[in-house]
Amino acid sequence: MSNSNYVPVRAMAIVAHPDDIEFGCAGTVARWVQQGCKVAYVLVTSGDVGIAKAGITRAEVAAIREAETLAAAKIVGVENVIFLREPDGMVENNLSLRKRLVREIRLFKPEVVLTDDPTLMFSPQGRINHPDHRAVGTAAVDAIFPAAGQPHFFEELAAEGIFAHKVRKVYIMSRGQGETFINISDTIELKLQALRAHVSQVGEMVELEKMLRERTAMLGAGKEMTHAEAFRVFMVETDETWTKLQAEQPQS
Ligand SMILES: [Zn+2]
Repeated sequence: MSNSNYVPVRAMAIVAHPDDIEFGCAGTVARWVQQGCKVAYVLVTSGDVGIAKAGITRAEVAAIREAETLAAAKIVGVENVIFLREPDGMVENNLSLRKRLVREIRLFKPEVVLTDDPTLMFSPQGRINHPDHRAVGTAAVDAIFPAAGQPHFFEELAAEGIFAHKVRKVYIMSRGQGETFINISDTIELKLQALRAHVSQVGEMVELEKMLRERTAMLGAGKEMTHAEAFRVFMVETDETWTKLQAEQPQS
């Protein structure tokens, strides 16, 4: 277990659906932003099957949910939101998606990428994990290593001025499982406020808010944290390599 006070310079959250970030890592994002981290969101789908109302089109749903996503991002201080608009519920981990993610990683140059758990078929809460979450988690991890950091992967991107970038660490959101706990005691209200911005999804939010307060309190218990989010953290580059890379290529 580690209680991490580490704050990356730049972080990118790559998720399947609008509201995945708010459930999984918005408290951490808010904390990092407050401490000077620049954060970008990549939404692989715009959640276009997420409103089951007669007569509404998927394009209309996507527009509503993208607006909600931008509002939620703004609450935690994130302006940079990229929508890839893959079809909701049908995300495939293929080379086309990997290349799209490599492009975004190389453009934004994150030190940390936060994403879903590729290995999680069933959640610790006894639910089936959405297939899009697994597909996006796998695609993101595959994009991070080794593709994004190797100039000969998708080398055609260089013609657009997009060059290899090595990510330092990946933070896996695993539905409350993990060994690294981020203290979100000061940002739990922002996390809930951001979730509330997904008006089409959360309704009155009474039960949801209770559940999230309990879950984050449980994760913080015994660690001098009133509320915490948990991650499984993996190194992509060692601290030594990262420091060397920074010296060679100062980040803008
Ligand atoms: Zn989702």
